[in-house]
Amino acid sequence: MVRMDSIWNENVKLPHFKKLEGDAATDVLIIGGGMAGILCAYFLQQEHIKYMLVEKGRICNGITRNTTAKITAQHGLIYHRLLKSLGTEKARMYLDANQKAIHRYARLCKKADCDFERKTAYVYSKDNRRKLEEEADALSQLGFQVQITDTDKLPFQTAGAIGFADQAQFHPLKFISKIAQGLHIYENTFVKELAKGAAMTECGKITFQKMIIATHFPIDNKHGLYPLKMYQDRSYVIALENAPQIDGMYIDEAQNGLSFRNYKDFLFIGGGSHRTGKKGKNWEELRNCARLYYPNMEEKYCWATQDCMTLDGIPYIGPYSRSMPECYVAAGFNKWGMTSSMVSAAILTDLLLERENPFAPVFHPSRNMIKPQLFINSFEAVSNLLTISAKRCPHMGCALRWNKAEHSWDCPCHGSRFDRFGKLLDNPSNGDIM
Ligand SMILES: Cc1cc2nc3c(=O)[nH]c(=O)nc-3n(C[C@H](O)[C@H](O)[C@H](O)COP(=O)(O)OP(=O)(O)OC[C@H]3O[C@@H](n4cnc5c(N)ncnc54)[C@H](O)[C@@H]3O)c2cc1C
Repeated sequence: MVRMDSIWNENVKLPHFKKLEGDAATDVLIIGGGMAGILCAYFLQQEHIKYMLVEKGRICNGITRNTTAKITAQHGLIYHRLLKSLGTEKARMYLDANQKAIHRYARLCKKADCDFERKTAYVYSKDNRRKLEEEADALSQLGFQVQITDTDKLPFQTAGAIGFADQAQFHPLKFISKIAQGLHIYENTFVKELAKGAAMTECGKITFQKMIIATHFPIDNKHGLYPLKMYQDRSYVIALENAPQIDGMYIDEAQNGLSFRNYKDFLFIGGGSHRTGKKGKNWEELRNCARLYYPNMEEKYCWATQDCMTLDGIPYIGPYSRSMPECYVAAGFNKWGMTSSMVSAAILTDLLLERENPFAPVFHPSRNMIKPQLFINSFEAVSNLLTISAKRCPHMGCALRWNKAEHSWDCPCHGSRFDRFGKLLDNPSNGDIM
Protein backbone atom coordinates (compact mmCIF):
# COMPACT_ATOMS: atom_id res chain seq x y z
CA MET A 1 0.00 0.00 0.00
CA VAL A 2 1.26 3.47 -0.85
CA ARG A 3 1.19 5.88 2.06
CA MET A 4 0.24 9.39 0.97
CA ASP A 5 2.53 11.19 3.38
CA SER A 6 6.14 12.22 3.62
CA ILE A 7 8.53 9.49 4.73
CA TRP A 8 9.86 11.81 7.47
CA ASN A 9 6.61 11.67 9.39
CA GLU A 10 7.12 7.99 10.13
CA ASN A 11 8.48 7.21 13.61
CA VAL A 12 9.61 10.69 14.55
CA LYS A 13 8.56 12.28 17.80
CA LEU A 14 8.94 16.04 17.68
CA PRO A 15 9.04 17.76 21.08
CA HIS A 16 5.77 19.37 22.21
CA PHE A 17 5.48 22.99 23.28
CA LYS A 18 2.61 24.71 25.04
CA LYS A 19 0.27 27.28 23.54
CA LEU A 20 0.81 30.94 24.41
CA GLU A 21 -2.13 32.12 26.51
CA GLY A 22 -2.65 35.85 26.99
CA ASP A 23 -0.22 38.70 26.33
CA ALA A 24 3.57 38.48 26.23
CA ALA A 25 6.61 40.67 25.59
CA THR A 26 9.95 39.75 24.06
CA ASP A 27 12.98 41.32 22.42
CA VAL A 28 12.73 39.23 19.24
CA LEU A 29 9.58 37.53 18.03
CA ILE A 30 10.01 34.77 15.43
CA ILE A 31 6.85 33.77 13.59
CA GLY A 32 6.93 30.30 12.00
CA GLY A 33 8.37 27.02 13.28
CA GLY A 34 9.78 25.48 10.09
CA MET A 35 13.48 24.96 9.36
CA ALA A 36 14.09 28.71 8.94
CA GLY A 37 12.33 29.83 12.12
CA ILE A 38 13.78 27.08 14.29
CA LEU A 39 17.34 27.66 13.13
CA CYS A 40 16.89 31.40 13.82
CA ALA A 41 15.66 30.52 17.32
CA TYR A 42 18.60 28.18 17.86
CA PHE A 43 21.11 30.85 16.81
CA LEU A 44 19.48 33.55 18.98
CA GLN A 45 19.49 31.18 21.96
CA GLN A 46 23.25 30.62 21.45
CA GLU A 47 23.68 34.41 21.60
CA HIS A 48 21.55 34.71 24.79
CA ILE A 49 19.08 37.01 23.06
CA LYS A 50 15.60 37.16 24.58
CA TYR A 51 13.29 35.73 21.92
CA MET A 52 10.20 33.63 21.46
CA LEU A 53 9.03 31.61 18.47
CA VAL A 54 5.33 31.15 17.79
CA GLU A 55 4.00 28.48 15.46
CA LYS A 56 0.37 28.22 14.38
CA GLY A 57 0.25 24.41 14.59
CA ARG A 58 2.89 21.91 15.62
CA ILE A 59 6.50 22.74 14.67
CA CYS A 60 7.39 21.66 11.14
CA ASN A 61 3.78 21.85 10.24
CA GLY A 62 4.56 23.33 6.82
CA ILE A 63 6.93 22.65 3.94
CA THR A 64 9.85 21.40 6.04
CA ARG A 65 8.19 18.07 6.79
CA ASN A 66 7.83 17.42 3.05
CA THR A 67 11.28 18.41 1.83
CA THR A 68 13.72 15.98 0.24
CA ALA A 69 16.38 17.38 2.60
CA LYS A 70 19.44 17.66 0.39
CA ILE A 71 21.92 20.07 1.94
CA THR A 72 23.82 21.58 -0.93
CA ALA A 73 25.21 24.77 -2.38
CA GLN A 74 24.50 23.38 -5.84
CA HIS A 75 21.15 24.94 -6.64
CA GLY A 76 20.76 23.74 -10.21
CA LEU A 77 22.92 25.52 -12.80
CA ILE A 78 22.73 28.79 -10.91
CA TYR A 79 26.33 30.03 -10.93
CA HIS A 80 26.61 30.83 -14.63
CA ARG A 81 23.49 32.98 -14.25
CA LEU A 82 24.64 34.61 -10.98
CA LEU A 83 28.00 35.46 -12.45
CA LYS A 84 26.27 37.26 -15.32
CA SER A 85 23.67 39.06 -13.21
CA LEU A 86 25.63 39.82 -10.02
CA GLY A 87 29.29 39.73 -10.99
CA THR A 88 32.07 37.63 -9.51
CA GLU A 89 32.12 38.99 -5.98
CA LYS A 90 28.44 38.52 -5.22
CA ALA A 91 28.18 35.18 -7.05
CA ARG A 92 31.06 33.94 -4.90
CA MET A 93 29.29 35.24 -1.79
CA TYR A 94 26.22 33.17 -2.69
CA LEU A 95 28.39 30.08 -3.07
CA ASP A 96 30.37 30.74 0.12
CA ALA A 97 27.26 31.46 2.19
CA ASN A 98 25.74 28.13 1.14
CA GLN A 99 28.97 26.17 1.55
CA LYS A 100 29.30 27.62 5.03
CA ALA A 101 25.73 26.53 5.75
CA ILE A 102 26.71 22.92 4.97
CA HIS A 103 29.61 23.11 7.43
CA ARG A 104 27.26 24.49 10.06
CA TYR A 105 24.88 21.57 9.52
CA ALA A 106 27.78 19.13 9.76
CA ARG A 107 28.75 20.60 13.13
CA LEU A 108 25.20 20.62 14.50
CA CYS A 109 24.48 17.14 13.19
CA LYS A 110 27.31 15.75 15.34
CA LYS A 111 24.98 16.47 18.27
CA ALA A 112 21.85 15.18 16.53
CA ASP A 113 21.28 11.61 15.43
CA CYS A 114 19.66 12.53 12.10
CA ASP A 115 21.07 10.24 9.39
CA PHE A 116 23.40 12.99 8.19
CA GLU A 117 25.55 11.66 5.35
CA ARG A 118 28.08 13.39 3.15
CA LYS A 119 27.19 12.93 -0.54
CA THR A 120 28.15 14.41 -3.87
CA ALA A 121 25.40 16.56 -5.38
CA TYR A 122 25.10 16.23 -9.16
CA VAL A 123 23.23 18.38 -11.60
CA TYR A 124 22.82 16.47 -14.83
CA SER A 125 21.62 17.39 -18.28
CA LYS A 126 19.90 14.92 -20.56
CA ASP A 127 21.02 16.58 -23.76
CA ASN A 128 22.86 19.85 -23.21
CA ARG A 129 26.54 19.40 -22.38
CA ARG A 130 27.18 23.00 -23.42
CA LYS A 131 25.18 24.27 -20.42
CA LEU A 132 27.23 22.07 -18.10
CA GLU A 133 30.45 23.41 -19.58
CA GLU A 134 29.28 27.00 -19.08
CA GLU A 135 28.46 26.24 -15.46
CA ALA A 136 31.82 24.54 -14.90
CA ASP A 137 33.55 27.62 -16.38
CA ALA A 138 31.55 29.95 -14.15
CA LEU A 139 32.43 27.87 -11.08
CA SER A 140 36.08 27.88 -12.05
CA GLN A 141 35.96 31.70 -12.21
CA LEU A 142 34.62 31.61 -8.67
CA GLY A 143 37.56 29.47 -7.62
CA PHE A 144 35.49 26.28 -7.27
CA GLN A 145 36.83 23.54 -9.51
CA VAL A 146 34.40 20.89 -10.79
CA GLN A 147 34.55 18.16 -13.41
CA ILE A 148 31.86 17.06 -15.81
CA THR A 149 31.36 13.38 -15.08
CA ASP A 150 29.32 10.41 -16.30
CA THR A 151 26.14 9.43 -14.54
CA ASP A 152 26.32 5.64 -14.65
CA LYS A 153 24.24 5.31 -11.47
CA LEU A 154 21.24 6.90 -13.17
CA PRO A 155 19.07 4.52 -15.17
CA PHE A 156 19.15 6.59 -18.37
CA GLN A 157 21.71 8.24 -20.62
CA THR A 158 22.70 11.83 -19.93
CA ALA A 159 25.07 14.32 -21.50
CA GLY A 160 26.98 14.36 -18.20
CA ALA A 161 26.76 15.94 -14.75
CA ILE A 162 28.58 18.44 -12.58
CA GLY A 163 29.36 17.08 -9.13
CA PHE A 164 29.83 19.14 -5.96
CA ALA A 165 31.74 16.94 -3.52
CA ASP A 166 31.12 16.96 0.25
CA GLN A 167 27.53 18.10 0.20
CA ALA A 168 25.05 16.26 2.44
CA GLN A 169 21.61 14.80 3.07
CA PHE A 170 19.78 14.09 6.32
CA HIS A 171 16.47 13.38 8.04
CA PRO A 172 15.09 16.90 8.60
CA LEU A 173 12.64 16.02 11.36
CA LYS A 174 15.13 13.97 13.37
CA PHE A 175 17.42 17.00 13.13
CA ILE A 176 14.69 19.40 14.26
CA SER A 177 13.55 17.11 17.07
CA LYS A 178 17.02 17.44 18.61
CA ILE A 179 17.71 21.10 17.78
CA ALA A 180 14.32 22.34 19.00
CA GLN A 181 14.72 20.88 22.50
CA GLY A 182 14.98 23.66 25.06
CA LEU A 183 14.09 26.43 22.60
CA HIS A 184 11.56 29.06 23.65
CA ILE A 185 8.71 27.95 21.39
CA TYR A 186 4.93 28.19 21.60
CA GLU A 187 2.87 25.89 19.41
CA ASN A 188 -0.77 26.31 18.37
CA THR A 189 -0.24 30.07 18.51
CA PHE A 190 -1.54 31.66 15.36
CA VAL A 191 -0.51 35.22 14.51
CA LYS A 192 -3.64 36.71 12.98
CA GLU A 193 -2.50 40.27 12.50
CA LEU A 194 0.54 42.50 12.78
CA ALA A 195 0.71 46.04 14.10
CA LYS A 196 3.66 48.32 14.84
CA GLY A 197 5.70 46.55 17.52
CA ALA A 198 2.99 43.97 18.19
CA ALA A 199 1.56 40.72 16.86
CA MET A 200 -2.01 39.67 17.63
CA THR A 201 -2.69 36.03 18.32
CA GLU A 202 -6.06 34.43 19.02
CA CYS A 203 -5.33 34.74 22.76
CA GLY A 204 -3.57 38.06 23.13
CA LYS A 205 -0.92 40.48 22.03
CA ILE A 206 2.84 39.92 21.80
CA THR A 207 4.93 43.06 21.93
CA PHE A 208 8.46 42.94 20.55
CA GLN A 209 11.46 45.09 19.69
CA LYS A 210 12.30 43.13 16.53
CA MET A 211 10.51 40.46 14.57
CA ILE A 212 11.50 37.72 12.11
CA ILE A 213 8.82 36.52 9.72
CA ALA A 214 9.66 32.92 8.80
CA THR A 215 6.19 31.81 7.77
CA HIS A 216 7.24 30.40 4.39
CA PHE A 217 5.16 32.94 2.43
CA PRO A 218 5.48 36.22 4.41
CA ILE A 219 2.24 37.01 6.23
CA ASP A 220 2.31 40.76 5.79
CA ASN A 221 0.94 41.95 2.42
CA LYS A 222 1.11 45.66 3.09
CA HIS A 223 4.89 46.06 2.97
CA GLY A 224 7.71 44.74 0.83
CA LEU A 225 5.57 43.73 -2.20
CA TYR A 226 6.03 40.02 -1.47
CA PRO A 227 2.85 38.97 -3.35
CA LEU A 228 4.43 40.45 -6.49
CA LYS A 229 7.95 39.25 -5.74
CA MET A 230 7.06 35.59 -5.22
CA TYR A 231 4.96 32.74 -6.52
CA GLN A 232 4.77 29.12 -5.39
CA ASP A 233 5.82 26.08 -7.35
CA ARG A 234 4.57 22.61 -6.50
CA SER A 235 6.54 19.36 -6.82
CA TYR A 236 5.88 15.70 -6.20
CA VAL A 237 7.90 12.90 -4.64
CA ILE A 238 7.63 9.10 -4.56
CA ALA A 239 9.76 6.76 -2.44
CA LEU A 240 10.56 3.31 -3.85
CA GLU A 241 11.54 0.55 -1.44
CA ASN A 242 14.51 -1.84 -1.83
CA ALA A 243 15.90 0.44 -4.49
CA PRO A 244 19.48 0.51 -5.80
CA GLN A 245 21.97 2.90 -4.18
CA ILE A 246 22.76 5.73 -6.58
CA ASP A 247 25.61 7.05 -4.47
CA GLY A 248 24.81 10.76 -4.68
CA MET A 249 22.00 13.29 -5.03
CA TYR A 250 20.95 14.08 -8.59
CA ILE A 251 18.85 16.80 -10.15
CA ASP A 252 18.10 17.60 -13.78
CA GLU A 253 19.11 21.04 -14.96
CA ALA A 254 15.86 21.26 -16.94
CA GLN A 255 13.08 23.00 -15.05
CA ASN A 256 10.69 20.08 -15.44
CA GLY A 257 13.26 17.33 -14.92
CA LEU A 258 13.55 14.72 -12.20
CA SER A 259 15.58 14.49 -9.01
CA PHE A 260 16.90 11.37 -7.25
CA ARG A 261 18.31 10.57 -3.83
CA ASN A 262 18.44 7.57 -1.53
CA TYR A 263 17.34 7.42 2.08
CA LYS A 264 18.42 4.11 3.57
CA ASP A 265 17.10 1.51 1.09
CA PHE A 266 14.56 3.91 -0.41
CA LEU A 267 15.00 5.86 -3.60
CA PHE A 268 13.16 9.18 -3.85
CA ILE A 269 12.16 10.36 -7.29
CA GLY A 270 11.06 13.99 -7.35
CA GLY A 271 9.63 16.17 -10.10
CA GLY A 272 6.39 16.99 -11.89
CA SER A 273 6.88 20.65 -10.96
CA HIS A 274 4.42 23.37 -11.94
CA ARG A 275 3.21 26.71 -10.67
CA THR A 276 0.69 26.00 -7.90
CA GLY A 277 -2.82 26.31 -9.29
CA LYS A 278 -1.73 25.35 -12.80
CA LYS A 279 -2.01 21.95 -14.43
CA GLY A 280 0.93 19.59 -13.90
CA LYS A 281 1.80 15.97 -14.42
CA ASN A 282 1.98 15.39 -10.64
CA TRP A 283 2.94 11.82 -9.57
CA GLU A 284 2.16 10.35 -12.98
CA GLU A 285 5.49 11.40 -14.45
CA LEU A 286 7.36 9.92 -11.48
CA ARG A 287 5.41 6.67 -11.69
CA ASN A 288 6.15 6.42 -15.41
CA CYS A 289 9.83 6.75 -14.59
CA ALA A 290 9.54 4.10 -11.85
CA ARG A 291 7.68 1.68 -14.14
CA LEU A 292 10.24 2.12 -16.87
CA TYR A 293 13.48 1.99 -14.91
CA TYR A 294 12.64 0.34 -11.58
CA PRO A 295 9.84 -2.08 -12.49
CA ASN A 296 10.44 -4.39 -9.51
CA MET A 297 10.54 -1.73 -6.83
CA GLU A 298 7.48 -1.02 -4.77
CA GLU A 299 6.28 2.54 -4.16
CA LYS A 300 5.82 2.98 -0.41
CA TYR A 301 5.27 6.72 0.03
CA CYS A 302 4.12 9.60 -2.12
CA TRP A 303 3.74 13.23 -1.22
CA ALA A 304 3.72 16.72 -2.67
CA THR A 305 4.68 20.15 -1.50
CA GLN A 306 5.58 23.62 -2.75
CA ASP A 307 8.07 26.36 -2.23
CA CYS A 308 8.26 30.10 -2.80
CA MET A 309 10.13 31.18 -5.93
CA THR A 310 11.70 34.63 -6.16
CA LEU A 311 12.13 36.90 -9.15
CA ASP A 312 15.86 36.19 -9.55
CA GLY A 313 16.27 32.77 -7.90
CA ILE A 314 17.91 34.27 -4.79
CA PRO A 315 16.14 34.11 -1.40
CA TYR A 316 14.85 37.17 0.45
CA ILE A 317 16.80 37.30 3.71
CA GLY A 318 17.13 40.56 5.63
CA PRO A 319 15.03 43.67 6.40
CA TYR A 320 11.36 43.04 5.52
CA SER A 321 10.90 46.42 3.89
CA ARG A 322 12.13 49.98 4.28
CA SER A 323 8.83 50.93 5.91
CA MET A 324 9.10 48.19 8.58
CA PRO A 325 12.57 48.69 10.07
CA GLU A 326 11.90 46.48 13.09
CA CYS A 327 11.03 43.49 10.95
CA TYR A 328 13.13 40.86 9.11
CA VAL A 329 12.22 38.11 6.68
CA ALA A 330 13.52 34.68 5.65
CA ALA A 331 11.63 33.50 2.57
CA GLY A 332 11.76 32.61 -1.12
CA PHE A 333 14.05 29.62 -0.92
CA ASN A 334 13.42 28.39 -4.50
CA LYS A 335 13.31 24.74 -3.31
CA TRP A 336 16.71 25.06 -1.63
CA GLY A 337 15.50 25.85 1.86
CA MET A 338 17.87 23.65 3.84
CA THR A 339 21.00 25.71 3.22
CA SER A 340 18.91 28.88 2.76
CA SER A 341 17.39 28.45 6.25
CA MET A 342 20.87 28.14 7.72
CA VAL A 343 22.05 31.18 5.74
CA SER A 344 18.97 33.05 7.06
CA ALA A 345 19.73 32.18 10.68
CA ALA A 346 23.35 33.35 10.33
CA ILE A 347 22.50 36.61 8.53
CA LEU A 348 19.51 37.57 10.67
CA THR A 349 21.35 36.89 13.93
CA ASP A 350 24.14 39.21 12.80
CA LEU A 351 21.68 41.89 11.69
CA LEU A 352 19.83 41.71 15.01
CA LEU A 353 23.11 42.05 16.88
CA GLU A 354 24.12 44.91 14.57
CA ARG A 355 27.15 42.90 13.42
CA GLU A 356 28.29 43.04 9.83
CA ASN A 357 27.49 39.96 7.78
CA PRO A 358 29.52 39.67 4.56
CA PHE A 359 26.79 37.76 2.72
CA ALA A 360 23.81 39.96 3.65
CA PRO A 361 23.95 42.25 0.54
CA VAL A 362 23.37 39.33 -1.87
CA PHE A 363 20.13 38.31 -0.16
CA HIS A 364 18.78 41.81 0.61
CA PRO A 365 15.00 41.66 0.01
CA SER A 366 14.76 45.20 -1.39
CA ARG A 367 17.01 44.56 -4.37
CA ASN A 368 16.03 45.37 -7.95
CA MET A 369 12.67 43.86 -8.90
CA ILE A 370 12.69 44.47 -12.64
CA LYS A 371 12.88 40.88 -13.86
CA PRO A 372 10.78 38.99 -16.43
CA GLN A 373 9.18 36.95 -13.62
CA LEU A 374 7.68 40.16 -12.20
CA PHE A 375 5.58 40.56 -15.36
CA ILE A 376 4.49 36.91 -15.26
CA ASN A 377 3.45 37.27 -11.60
CA SER A 378 1.57 40.49 -12.35
CA PHE A 379 -0.17 38.92 -15.34
CA GLU A 380 -1.24 35.91 -13.25
CA ALA A 381 -2.57 38.18 -10.52
CA VAL A 382 -4.59 40.36 -12.90
CA SER A 383 -5.98 37.51 -15.00
CA ASN A 384 -6.99 35.46 -11.98
CA LEU A 385 -8.56 38.45 -10.27
CA LEU A 386 -10.67 38.98 -13.41
CA THR A 387 -11.59 35.29 -13.80
CA ILE A 388 -15.17 34.50 -12.85
CA SER A 389 -15.35 31.77 -10.23
CA ALA A 390 -17.43 31.15 -7.13
CA LYS A 391 -14.37 29.96 -5.21
CA ARG A 392 -12.06 32.85 -4.37
CA CYS A 393 -8.88 33.00 -2.35
CA PRO A 394 -9.27 34.91 0.93
CA HIS A 395 -5.68 36.17 0.54
CA MET A 396 -6.22 38.63 -2.34
CA GLY A 397 -9.38 37.47 -4.07
CA CYS A 398 -7.96 35.45 -7.00
CA ALA A 399 -10.07 32.70 -8.60
CA LEU A 400 -9.19 29.26 -7.22
CA ARG A 401 -8.65 26.21 -9.44
CA TRP A 402 -9.63 22.64 -8.59
CA ASN A 403 -6.61 20.32 -8.28
CA LYS A 404 -7.88 16.91 -9.37
CA ALA A 405 -4.81 14.95 -8.26
CA GLU A 406 -4.86 16.26 -4.68
CA HIS A 407 -8.54 17.20 -4.30
CA SER A 408 -7.82 20.75 -3.27
CA TRP A 409 -8.63 24.31 -4.32
CA ASP A 410 -5.37 25.99 -5.35
CA CYS A 411 -4.58 29.64 -6.05
CA PRO A 412 -2.44 30.32 -9.16
CA CYS A 413 -1.55 33.83 -7.94
CA HIS A 414 0.31 33.15 -4.69
CA GLY A 415 -0.16 29.44 -4.03
CA SER A 416 -2.63 29.29 -1.14
CA ARG A 417 -4.38 25.89 -1.03
CA PHE A 418 -7.58 24.69 0.60
CA ASP A 419 -9.11 21.24 1.05
CA ARG A 420 -12.38 20.37 -0.64
CA PHE A 421 -14.32 21.78 2.34
CA GLY A 422 -12.46 25.09 2.08
CA LYS A 423 -10.12 24.55 5.03
CA LEU A 424 -6.72 26.21 4.64
CA LEU A 425 -3.85 23.86 3.71
CA ASP A 426 -1.04 26.19 2.59
CA ASN A 427 -0.49 29.92 3.12
CA PRO A 428 -0.26 32.89 2.32
CA SER A 429 -3.99 32.94 3.02
CA ASN A 430 -4.44 33.06 6.77
CA GLY A 431 -8.00 31.80 6.78
CA ASP A 432 -10.40 29.25 5.26
CA ILE A 433 -12.64 29.90 2.26
CA MET A 434 -15.86 31.41 3.61
C1 LIG B 1 9.31 18.95 -3.40
C2 LIG B 1 10.30 19.81 -2.67
C3 LIG B 1 11.52 19.28 -2.33
C4 LIG B 1 12.45 20.05 -1.67
N1 LIG B 1 13.66 19.53 -1.40
C5 LIG B 1 14.63 20.31 -0.89
C6 LIG B 1 15.95 19.81 -0.74
O1 LIG B 1 16.26 18.66 -1.06
N2 LIG B 1 16.89 20.64 -0.24
C7 LIG B 1 16.60 21.93 0.10
O2 LIG B 1 17.50 22.66 0.49
N3 LIG B 1 15.34 22.41 0.00
C8 LIG B 1 14.36 21.64 -0.48
N4 LIG B 1 13.10 22.14 -0.62
C9 LIG B 1 12.77 23.45 -0.06
C10 LIG B 1 12.62 23.41 1.46
O3 LIG B 1 11.96 22.23 1.86
C11 LIG B 1 11.84 24.64 1.94
O4 LIG B 1 12.41 25.78 1.36
C12 LIG B 1 11.91 24.79 3.46
O5 LIG B 1 11.49 23.62 4.09
C13 LIG B 1 11.04 25.96 3.88
O6 LIG B 1 11.18 26.11 5.27
P1 LIG B 1 10.46 27.31 6.00
O7 LIG B 1 10.83 27.26 7.43
O8 LIG B 1 10.70 28.56 5.26
O9 LIG B 1 8.89 27.03 5.79
P2 LIG B 1 7.92 26.02 6.55
O10 LIG B 1 8.57 24.74 6.84
O11 LIG B 1 6.66 25.99 5.75
O12 LIG B 1 7.67 26.75 7.94
C14 LIG B 1 6.83 27.86 8.06
C15 LIG B 1 6.01 27.70 9.33
O13 LIG B 1 5.31 28.91 9.61
C16 LIG B 1 4.08 28.58 10.21
N5 LIG B 1 3.18 29.71 10.05
C17 LIG B 1 2.66 30.20 8.89
N6 LIG B 1 1.86 31.25 9.15
C18 LIG B 1 1.86 31.44 10.49
C19 LIG B 1 1.20 32.36 11.36
N7 LIG B 1 0.40 33.32 10.88
N8 LIG B 1 1.41 32.25 12.71
C20 LIG B 1 2.25 31.29 13.20
N9 LIG B 1 2.89 30.39 12.42
C21 LIG B 1 2.70 30.46 11.08
C22 LIG B 1 3.64 27.33 9.43
O14 LIG B 1 2.69 26.58 10.14
C23 LIG B 1 4.96 26.60 9.22
O15 LIG B 1 5.19 25.60 10.21
C24 LIG B 1 12.14 21.39 -1.30
C25 LIG B 1 10.91 21.93 -1.64
C26 LIG B 1 10.00 21.17 -2.34
C27 LIG B 1 8.72 21.79 -2.75
